[in-house]
Amino acid sequence: TTAVRMRSLRRDYGAVAALDGVDLDLAAGTFTAVMGPSGSGKSTLLQCAAGLDRPTSGTVAVDGVELAGLSERRLTLLRRERIGFVFQSFNLLPSLTAAQNVALPLRLARRRPARGAVREALDRVGLGDRAGHRPSQLSGGQQQRVALARALITRPAVLFGDEPTGALDTTTSREVLSLLRELVDREGQTTVMVTHDPVAASYADRVVFLVDGRVSGELAGPSAEAVA
Ligand code: ADP
Ligand code: ADP
Repeated sequence: TTAVRMRSLRRDYGAVAALDGVDLDLAAGTFTAVMGPSGSGKSTLLQCAAGLDRPTSGTVAVDGVELAGLSERRLTLLRRERIGFVFQSFNLLPSLTAAQNVALPLRLARRRPARGAVREALDRVGLGDRAGHRPSQLSGGQQQRVALARALITRPAVLFGDEPTGALDTTTSREVLSLLRELVDREGQTTVMVTHDPVAASYADRVVFLVDGRVSGELAGPSAEAVA
C-alpha cells in the first residue's frame, strides 16, 4: 500500500517554484531519503507531505486521506494522530522531563497517556532509564531519541525527519540512523527523511533526488548504498 501519494505537487513562493511538479509514491513500511542541493525544495516537499504547508496546486494523500480536502481543524487532527515529525534541532521543551516531552502529543490530543505508554515509547528508543531527565541532562543523540519517541507515541502512519542527524556528530548520527532503520525493519514504520549526508541516505531503502523542485532521479534497493 501507499503511505504517501503526491501528484503534480507545486509550491510557489512568489516567483519562486519551490516545488515544480512532483509525482512521488512512498510505499508503506519503507525508509526513503530525500537528497538534493540547498534550495532544491526538500524541506518544502516534506512540509507539504506532512500537512505543515499547503501546496499551491497538486495533491497529497497520507494514509489514503487527501489533505487538500481537509479543513484546518481536520488537518491539525490528522497531523497529530497520523504524522510524526522530527527536526534537526530536536525541539524538546527544556522545562519538561523526557517522559513529559514524550507524553505531549497525547496531551495535545486530550488523550490520557495509557499507563506504560510513555515508558514503552522511551524503551523503543533505548531510553527507558532516562524518563526523568530534562533535555539539558541528555546528550544530543539522546535528545533526538526522545524527540523520536515523542513523534512515534501516537503510532503515526508516517514519520518525517528534516535533517534529523544534521546536528549530531558522526558516531551519534549513526546510532540514530540505526535506530530509524530498526524501527522500519522491526515495526514497519514508514519513514521519510531529508538529508545532506550520503552516509545517512545509505540507511534508506530508496534515495530520491530533487533538483530545482523536481525529482531528478533515484536509487532504490541495495544500490542505495552506492551513494555512500
Ligand atoms: P531545501 O530544503 O532543499 O534547501 P527549500 O524547500 O527550503 O529547499 O526551499 C526551496 C526554495 O523555496 C528556495 O528557493 C527557497 O528560497 C524557497 N523558499 C522556501 N521557503 C520559503 C518561504 N517561506 N518564503 C519564500 N521562499 C521560500
Ligand atoms: P504531569 O505532572 O504533567 O502529569 P507526569 O510527570 O505525570 O506529568 O508525566 C507525564 C507522563 O509521563 C505520564 O503519562 C507519566 O505516566 C509518564 N511518566 C512520568 N515519569 C515517568 C517515568 N519516570 N517513567 C515512565 N513514565 C513516566
